Amino acid sequence: MNPWVLSYEGFDPASERLREALCTLGNGRFATRGATPDGELRTPGTYVAGCYDRLDSTVAGQRVTNEDLVNLPDWLPLTFATQGSDWFRPERADLLDYRQKLDMRHGILYRALRWRDGSGRVTAIRQRRLVSMADPRLAALETTFTAENWSGPLRVRATLDGRVTNSGVARYRELRGDHLTGHDTGDQNGLTWLTAVTRSSQITVALASRTDAAFPAREMIREGGRIGTDHVLDLAQGEPATLTKTVALVTSRDSAIRDARSTAIRAVRMARPFDALAAPHAAAWERLWQRARVEMDAPDLAQIVHLHVFHLLQTLSPHTADLDVGVPARGLHGEAYRGHVFWDELFVLPWLNLRFPETSLALLRYRYRRLPEARAAARDAGYDGAMFPWQSGSDGREETPMSHLNPASGRWLPDGSHLQRHVGLAIAYNVWQYYLATGSMPLWCAELLMEIARFFASLTVLDPASGRYEIRGVMGPDEYHERYPGASSPGLANNAYTNVMTVWLLLRARDTLDLLPEPTASARERARWDDITRRMRVDFHDGVISQFTGYADLLELDWARYRGVRRLDRALEADGDDVNRYRAAKQADTLMLCYLLTSDELVGILNRLGYPVEPGLIPRMVGYYLDRTSHGSTLSAVVHAWVLSRSDRARSWQYFAEALFGDIKDVQHGTTAEGIHLGAMAGTLDLLERCYLGLEIHRDGLHLNPLLPDRLGVLSMPIRFRGSELFIDADHRQARINGVAGPTFTSEQGDTIMAATGDLGRRIAHHRERLGLTVEQVAERADISPGYLQYLEEQPGTPTAEAIYRLAGALETTTEDLLGGGVDRPPGRGRAKAAPTLESLDRDECLKLIEPGGIGRVAFNGSHGPTVLPVNYKLHHGSIVFRTASGGPMDQDLRTGLEGVEIKVGFEVDRIDEAQREGWSVLIQGPAHHISPDELPEIADVTPWAGGERHLYVRIVPHQITGRRIHHL
Ligand code: BGC
Repeated sequence: MNPWVLSYEGFDPASERLREALCTLGNGRFATRGATPDGELRTPGTYVAGCYDRLDSTVAGQRVTNEDLVNLPDWLPLTFATQGSDWFRPERADLLDYRQKLDMRHGILYRALRWRDGSGRVTAIRQRRLVSMADPRLAALETTFTAENWSGPLRVRATLDGRVTNSGVARYRELRGDHLTGHDTGDQNGLTWLTAVTRSSQITVALASRTDAAFPAREMIREGGRIGTDHVLDLAQGEPATLTKTVALVTSRDSAIRDARSTAIRAVRMARPFDALAAPHAAAWERLWQRARVEMDAPDLAQIVHLHVFHLLQTLSPHTADLDVGVPARGLHGEAYRGHVFWDELFVLPWLNLRFPETSLALLRYRYRRLPEARAAARDAGYDGAMFPWQSGSDGREETPMSHLNPASGRWLPDGSHLQRHVGLAIAYNVWQYYLATGSMPLWCAELLMEIARFFASLTVLDPASGRYEIRGVMGPDEYHERYPGASSPGLANNAYTNVMTVWLLLRARDTLDLLPEPTASARERARWDDITRRMRVDFHDGVISQFTGYADLLELDWARYRGVRRLDRALEADGDDVNRYRAAKQADTLMLCYLLTSDELVGILNRLGYPVEPGLIPRMVGYYLDRTSHGSTLSAVVHAWVLSRSDRARSWQYFAEALFGDIKDVQHGTTAEGIHLGAMAGTLDLLERCYLGLEIHRDGLHLNPLLPDRLGVLSMPIRFRGSELFIDADHRQARINGVAGPTFTSEQGDTIMAATGDLGRRIAHHRERLGLTVEQVAERADISPGYLQYLEEQPGTPTAEAIYRLAGALETTTEDLLGGGVDRPPGRGRAKAAPTLESLDRDECLKLIEPGGIGRVAFNGSHGPTVLPVNYKLHHGSIVFRTASGGPMDQDLRTGLEGVEIKVGFEVDRIDEAQREGWSVLIQGPAHHISPDELPEIADVTPWAGGERHLYVRIVPHQITGRRIHHL
């Protein structure tokens, strides 16, 4: 099993929608479902983060308004036909072979099929698809056709289709989904474009497409909201022919645009061919994987862990950090929950914090930017501070629908879930976690936390009879309990999760105040907060914390009758009953306390409130609520895996596996097809880290207390903690930080060392090979873990001084040598290796070597004699292009003032591998010319290392190219 590839065999219309969701490609700015480009039964979906639109609908006689993440025009359509055949549709075709592969490491979706038409002609079709992680506006689909037993014409049709609607979720179909209007299409110098506008948010969306093929377009297809080109490929038997469709997607919300349409056209015009797009895209993914690396010795599990990281990063990448968007509960992968933002970020940010803190911060800023709306909502409801909506979209208003459809009964029912005020607690919890992970509490983050604290403080009411503070009229995370049985209005009193977390929040608000330069809360306010943290009400029954006041009066459900039913709310309502009457939960509610707080913290809060904590309270609660939960949300398994991890490892692992397989096996029956469950996906990653590696972040530093499940022998991952890069690994014996056993790490220990060049890993590997040692042997000599050594050899890491000393000793060399301390000395001082081979390189090899661009040296006859200077260059259509300063040494010397007189220069690039005593050099000779930057806009990104003003562009046209390489066989 390849842990980086998800493979599918055969075409199965019944599972196609699930496959589409799981094969979605995205870059954190937009994503496109893995729909076929040519099928009939497809649910195409392209969603740009934050691109919402509102529409009014009438359901069950009521007018309702819904805001949706808009399904944007479909850029995928591409089909083909042989002479006399219909357009290819996989559902109707005679398929001899059909495979699909998702390469998660490089972000490429492959499809390979063989089709036999009605006349027995067999054609092999191979496709590659990407949504660029390097240029977040671009996507491409490359198709290669090979006629296996025939020759002749093949018609290919590539279109952009704007006639899409939001119709991907069956239970929303009574609601309007025609968000796009004002479609317009056109073509320009062989490119096609399509624009449309969202009805109420008035966002212009533009797609531009370029089709590259050996055979130019024959015909333009243009009809209401759709545009495309027809090509005729003249196939010769056995000879592959390729057609690439490259698209740019731009909206009027993007930055750095003129207008969406012209920017899309320009972007697609400048886009490079498929391979040249794929290379920086794969490099961008490689950088993400370096930070998101998780290693374990179970390839089947590693594959799903990679799938979860992959979809998380496709939804929330460094590109997202540049946008004003939140965490969409179902990714950018489908239309369930309309792209809304719930509390699910609670399960996502802790993992991001330790790898992509810039992205976490941007997601918090999404909330901060909506603080005025949340303040207004609190004020309108009669409270202080900021009341965040349960479902949030474009501007931070409450987007929770007032009614929802029960597909089991066909009835529209009132929806009171907006009373889940605890969403604010999740935001504040994340602010605090961000602070713990990064050591940074920006002032605006502090303001966010304080305003949420104010809101929760003002929600509390002092009951004079009991002398306790209460919170009434809310809902906890368990959505089965919205109201008291028979009550006319929704809302419950004293949801324990909300009450206890409010105490936790007010304590953190106090800590936050201590971090601020000036007090932002009055003494009176602080005193009231303090009082609440000592007198909040928590109910108990049967020796456990009650989910809310009155929980003990509820009936026990006949669980046998509803065995295996996940959505009890729907089943009971369809049976004319009401789930509110029973002690039955959709997902963890009271147990969320054990998920977010350590047992010491929870017991500490209960003690502070003056409640006696009976021994065994926590395990008793876990057993009690677990017996009464139907796991109707994917988040439930995540939380239960955590709360059982110390007491019942086997059961904990069962829940972990359920969360892990939740989407790939569509555990919630059909819901994954409507979008992945991002919270649960991220939750599994967080579990590996917090639960199994036992990584806890406290104010005094990082603590490790691993407990690996039996299925895993080793588990390792790098993290970034308060500015230090740390590599954590554990086996069943011990945990290590940067390869060295140790259960804690504080910021003072963070004296990491940066090697002078990025070659530390290569130097370690070289010395190890020189001594003929394996990774394990060196690790043992240095008394560090093999996982860390492997990591250092593969990544540009920043190890601690301690690790470097140990490694230098183990490798019988010096720390200076390992760190590249000789960087100020000329290269090549080492002795040559025995039996070197010197070989000449041909022109193609030379060009391949210098193709990536970088630093080369220009040699010319200067006014003071022969001169050689280094420059940053780029290879452009076979010429060398570089920038230099006007009036600088090269400027004058390369100008003759005589028309037609060419100055010949030499240009050299080399690479010397000191560790291996190997290298190559390429020499180019030819005339140099000044050029204007307008001639070559794409070279504007050649940034000279020397900095300063360098406005002069020079091009060297190679007349002669030679090269040499020294190597050892
Ligand atoms: C869960 C919520 C969750 C939402 C979005 C619901 O089914 O009950 O806790 O926030 O899905 O993922």
